[in-house]
Amino acid sequence: MGGRTLRRLGQPVLIALGLAAAAAWRGELSPGIVLFLTMAMIWAVIRSWYDTDHLPVSARHRQGRERTLVFLVGVGMLYLPAIAVATPFLDFARYGTPVWLLALGALPAVCGIWLFWLSHADLGKNWSPVLELRESHALVTGGIYAHIRHPMYAAIFLIVAAQFAFLGNLLAGPAGLLAFALLYLDRIASEEAMMADRFGADWTRYVAKTGRILPMAKRPHADGAA
Ligand code: SAH
Repeated sequence: MGGRTLRRLGQPVLIALGLAAAAAWRGELSPGIVLFLTMAMIWAVIRSWYDTDHLPVSARHRQGRERTLVFLVGVGMLYLPAIAVATPFLDFARYGTPVWLLALGALPAVCGIWLFWLSHADLGKNWSPVLELRESHALVTGGIYAHIRHPMYAAIFLIVAAQFAFLGNLLAGPAGLLAFALLYLDRIASEEAMMADRFGADWTRYVAKTGRILPMAKRPHADGAA
């Protein structure tokens, strides 16, 4: 592991520790905040780990709006929570997080992190933060992608649900969920159209066997056989 990799992985850890220190300094380091920071640190380390050595981009789709929505997701999942944790500015929107709520949030947190990791590992060099295809882009249909077409989006939905449960803040809590739902709703049809355009029949066959973010209840029989 080179110095650059260490720096990339160290960054989320240092930021999480810094935010925890700021919360502790103002006497607000609650169990929910510790859970939130731990979860955010882990998904950010996973993303940093895989965010490297991509294939060159060959086709970009709908750049302007995409980037704005991706930025909004950053606001909802990172910047607003950071402000809520480290500063008093969002304290007016706070409410208590009983143990049952934290326990309820732990389930999507753990499943979300696990799915986030699997999807990054399986997508590998084909991953992009925005809608684009790479040179020699491969259609991934194995691993977690054999079950659902959008495991990374499913993972993010679980992570932002856990954020809502952990943060105990009426603004910063649901902000991630709202922002990501907007991005998902805006992007999903275009992403599938882009994949259909590039991969044609292979994509159509793949769609017949998988659900978008939930596994298909029953596998359809091959070629219309009853
Ligand atoms: N929607 C997927 C991937 C998110 S990353 C998920 O939720 O897991 C977005 C990029 O991944 C897209 O721009 C596209 O280039 C790429 N992509 C999406 N599905 C893919 C697949 N099955 N195989 C290869 N690349 C894929």
